Amino acid sequence: MTDIKKITDKLKNEQNASDEELLWLLDFDGDTEYLRSSADEVRKKVYGDEVYIRGLIEISNHCKNNCLYCGIRASNPNVTRYRLTKEDILACCKSGYELGFRTFVMQGGEDGYYSDEVMCDIVACIKALYPDCAVTLSLGERSRESYSALKKAGADRYLLRHETADDVHYSKLHPENLTLESRKKCLFDLKETGYQVGSGFMVGSPFQTNETLVKDFRFLQYLSPDMIGIGPFISHKDTPFKNEKNGSLSLTVKLISILRLMFPHALIPATTALASLDSKGREMGLKAGANVVMPNLSPESVRDSYSLYDNKAHSGSEAAESLALLKELVKKAGYRVVTDVGNVKR
Ligand code: SAM
Repeated sequence: MTDIKKITDKLKNEQNASDEELLWLLDFDGDTEYLRSSADEVRKKVYGDEVYIRGLIEISNHCKNNCLYCGIRASNPNVTRYRLTKEDILACCKSGYELGFRTFVMQGGEDGYYSDEVMCDIVACIKALYPDCAVTLSLGERSRESYSALKKAGADRYLLRHETADDVHYSKLHPENLTLESRKKCLFDLKETGYQVGSGFMVGSPFQTNETLVKDFRFLQYLSPDMIGIGPFISHKDTPFKNEKNGSLSLTVKLISILRLMFPHALIPATTALASLDSKGREMGLKAGANVVMPNLSPESVRDSYSLYDNKAHSGSEAAESLALLKELVKKAGYRVVTDVGNVKR
């Protein structure tokens, strides 16, 4: 038996492998079809052909942080900054609900405007209007008290990527005031507060190595998140990483398969970054083990401004209003978009 088969089978049967085996798999640049089809098999066993959709509302591109990779970093003067009001957000939810979305993900930069008071009111209003919907937040690092207040207001889930589980790597991607320690604390605060938690990392971020990726796997095993979001790093012209190479499609797809085998029950999105990198990206992600897509529900007028990286996709099947197109794409890949999901856990 070849090593790719041996290691894939081990991952499938034990949801684990040694560091050496994982490094071998990451280094391997031959045919990975066995890995991909095994991940698809596991995904089908756990989730059938269902693909879950989440309506993504990008509520603000104001951010106090200066992450070196991110296009909406505070010190980028070339961003047209915007923030959505409660009314804007409720209008997005209304049109999303009519389209069949039952999860609203509010994501934004770390914007002080969205104090606990403002955000709790928005979350409570959404839950009052749409009690059958899940509310997911992705608003960066906040205090444990803040996470707790938002949870009490009705938030169900929180997405916060750990970005990298290696301290030195983390410090090369972020300014000094942001630390891996505090990121991890937020993630455990979120878990302990009762959220369903999503974490993850960029693929091919500058200074990432196969060794740091193995640390990412180990951290995810320790955290045991409900969702794991990975997408390729894509450079943005107004950041210190403007000349850095983009993450690769093949590595992202390979990592989706490894993660599916290690975390059979995780929700794994085929991300916008993957779809932005390659027109076949999302389809390839789904076939490799991903089972969630998050089309954009933000008002069209602001979609251009939430520019995390160059050439970010926000039209066609990436746009929530083109749900029919997305359903067709998912069907062609061999799966089925599920709307009207009453079960918040999914
Ligand atoms: N502020 C919140 C946070 O930090 O979690 C949410 C918004 S943040 C922009 C969402 C995610 O975008 C980050 O976790 C990061 O992984 C991703 N991102 C930022 N810049 C990116 C880039 N250049 N390429 C790919 N993904 C990027």
